[in-house]
Amino acid sequence: MAPKIDSEVDVLIVGAGPAGLMLATWLSQLQISTRIIDKRSTKIMAGQADGFQCRTLEILDSFGIDRVWKESNHMLEVCFWNPDENGVIRRTARAPDTPKGLSRFTESVLHQGRMERFFLDHLKETGDRIRVERPVVPSLLQVEESEIKNQAAYPVTLKLQHLTDEEATPNQGNNIPNGLFRSNLTADDTDDLIRKSSGKEGTEETIRAKYLVGCDGAHSWTRKQLGFKMEGEHTEIIWGVLDVVPITDFPDIRVRCLVHSASAGSLMVIPREKRVVRLYIQLKEVGAGGGAVDRSKVTPEQILKAAQKIIAPYKLDYEQCDWFTAYQIAQRVSDGFEKYDRIYLAGDAVHTHSPKAGQGQNVSIQDSYNLGWKIGMVARGQASPEILKTYTTERQQIARDLIAFDQKFSKLFSGRPAKDVSDETGINLKEFQNVFHQGAVFAAGLSVDYGPNILVVKEDEGKDGSVRCRPELANKLKIGMRLPSHKIINQSDALAIELQKLLPSDGRFRLIVFPGDISKPEIYSRYEKLGAYLPSKDSVISLYTPQDSPKDSVIEVLTVHSAKRTEIELQSLPEAFHPLDKSKGWDYWKVYADDESYHEGHGQVYENFGIDRDEGCTVVVRPDGYVAATLAVDDTRSLEAYFGRFMIKL
Ligand code: FAD
Repeated sequence: MAPKIDSEVDVLIVGAGPAGLMLATWLSQLQISTRIIDKRSTKIMAGQADGFQCRTLEILDSFGIDRVWKESNHMLEVCFWNPDENGVIRRTARAPDTPKGLSRFTESVLHQGRMERFFLDHLKETGDRIRVERPVVPSLLQVEESEIKNQAAYPVTLKLQHLTDEEATPNQGNNIPNGLFRSNLTADDTDDLIRKSSGKEGTEETIRAKYLVGCDGAHSWTRKQLGFKMEGEHTEIIWGVLDVVPITDFPDIRVRCLVHSASAGSLMVIPREKRVVRLYIQLKEVGAGGGAVDRSKVTPEQILKAAQKIIAPYKLDYEQCDWFTAYQIAQRVSDGFEKYDRIYLAGDAVHTHSPKAGQGQNVSIQDSYNLGWKIGMVARGQASPEILKTYTTERQQIARDLIAFDQKFSKLFSGRPAKDVSDETGINLKEFQNVFHQGAVFAAGLSVDYGPNILVVKEDEGKDGSVRCRPELANKLKIGMRLPSHKIINQSDALAIELQKLLPSDGRFRLIVFPGDISKPEIYSRYEKLGAYLPSKDSVISLYTPQDSPKDSVIEVLTVHSAKRTEIELQSLPEAFHPLDKSKGWDYWKVYADDESYHEGHGQVYENFGIDRDEGCTVVVRPDGYVAATLAVDDTRSLEAYFGRFMIKL
């Protein structure tokens, strides 16, 4: 007998860690009916992930979440410490932790619980439409396969069990505090985190959803229901983690350090917020003899002892320990990211690896950042479900790259330094340093390069009615990668602003028109032609924007010209580039100049993107800020061909 259905929802998210909360944030922004459940009574309070990479900070900023950047410790320098000829550790190199010019942000450190707090606050501040329901677990999953193609249907059925607090409290084993224990670092959470009783404890409900997304971590229940397996390896190397306020004479305790001792193992120093330092410490004694390690036997004292040996002759101790853990490196990727075109997995549910390169939380957030707007557009009936296939193709490759990077990095970091060139089992410390530097762009999340697909056009497809992509028109801008940021000047008020600030995550595609020097008549006439097309009844704007919605609500058009700002008058430009809304007046925030600002220099965006000032181009940018295509300024046919691939006409 078919179960009685209690309610329906467009998207159900299982798991309210970083991946689940990022997805909820997107879907809240796009006003998609969504529920998010978590089996724990509260968010995490301490420990777990702490590193925020540049791309994650850009993404958070695009939602207006700037508290991580404000509250975190900005990690600016990395030092390498290696044994000298007498086996005593010495600083052998210093470098910027984030390579210069990569992003507006640099790597920053703050504990995961704060991030989860910020997501929860943001959900509340932006409409309070989605609240995390705790403690709730799914207990049954069924899919009505005959309904999958029907976009109006709710083919995914889930039974949910509302737990009591007792049921939701995990057995911690022998006194190992982890992220579920309250931290004394954060003061402002407590009241908010006291779970308001839902009155549903001990009850069950059955709901139907259009989409289900499993963000339920490394032991994902959702993944198991789909029959996917994690493929990869478990290494025998055991690491301890201490979050402490250190008392030490080690001179570099407030910069990131990678310390290789001669024979006592390796250690990483991560300077954190509020005087805390995280230490990743290779544990030699624990787990010797192979086989699975009983982590409950590891104590903070034991981890400290290992750290003291590595960092000797410097002294290291602490009074305050906020959190500790021990882990064994497992590098694995799920053999599936999606099933039935309706159920998706994100974050640790599909990839696990060592935490030392600070990737876990970042890649998890970036997974659901990739997925959220796609589900949103399909659920709103704006785009074909075909775009959802790109989630797997785009993110599975990232997960594989991540594991390959982690394997290389972990092996070199866990290895014993070679004594000399003939020592083949030892690792070459120069090579380790090189891998670290080469991996910096990857680790920052800025080497992501999505391959060609329905949303990304990398070259001229050469057929009638296809997209005439012209990568050479912006030859330093990489199609498939996120649009980098440079300062530009607002035409109307001379304000210098970062280009990325014009790309908030609000679900809109953007056409950034770089017309060139529009003070020259022949260049202006090309731009004018585009300006005449945009409001026409068959333009991509008219075809895909609902009648009663603002003209820029689906595809926004921005201009960055390269004329002298003072030689251009906004009002003389076609209205399509600075539209009039009777209740709001003219839009003064759509036309910019690549010019010298009064106080903040010249962003040189044409130069940095490799755009010719006579030729110009139009860059199509996806709602997640990745470059989708580069076209000739007035190539309206290619615009139609591009959006015609996946957008649904009204
Ligand atoms: P998670 O953060 O694991 O979130 C999953 C959520 O789903 C949890 O809230 C969980 O309660 C919920 N859930 C699970 N199963 C169910 C279910 N059946 N029903 C309902 N809800 C469910 N990364 C680093 O970068 N640096 C570190 O030092 C670091 N240390 C870590 C230490 C530990 C002990 C752990 C567990 C992880 C650590 N990580 C670290 C990894 C990092 O925390 C993760 O990569 C990141 O949290 C992944 O985010 P996620 O949302 O995919 O999964």
